[in-house]
Amino acid sequence: MMTLGQKQRRFTEMVGRLIAFAYASGYELTFGDAYRDPRVHGNVGQKKSYSSANSLHKERLAIDFNLFKSGVYMTASEDYHELGEFWESIGGTWGGRFNDGNHFSMEHQGRK
Ligand SMILES: [Zn+2]
Repeated sequence: MMTLGQKQRRFTEMVGRLIAFAYASGYELTFGDAYRDPRVHGNVGQKKSYSSANSLHKERLAIDFNLFKSGVYMTASEDYHELGEFWESIGGTWGGRFNDGNHFSMEHQGRK
């Protein structure tokens, strides 16, 4: 079983692979939320902002991207499908399975 720190470091490496895959597939990305600082968003289990109380962003295990194709900002969850399938193939959890297509995470303690 991986520790939280081991998961965080593997997650970061996976994000690198996801970004490379996206650009090789003709997409471009910008960053949305990655780490959500508990000083702003509350500790895990605490609701303090727009973030969900148990968000994996608070544990450095989730990232949101903004997706572009041919310079056009793509906003539908389904637009991320190709990236989501790649992400799942390397062990990640894709938010598109729960209507949150721009969200890429690593499951931790049953949370996605
Ligand atoms: Zn997210």
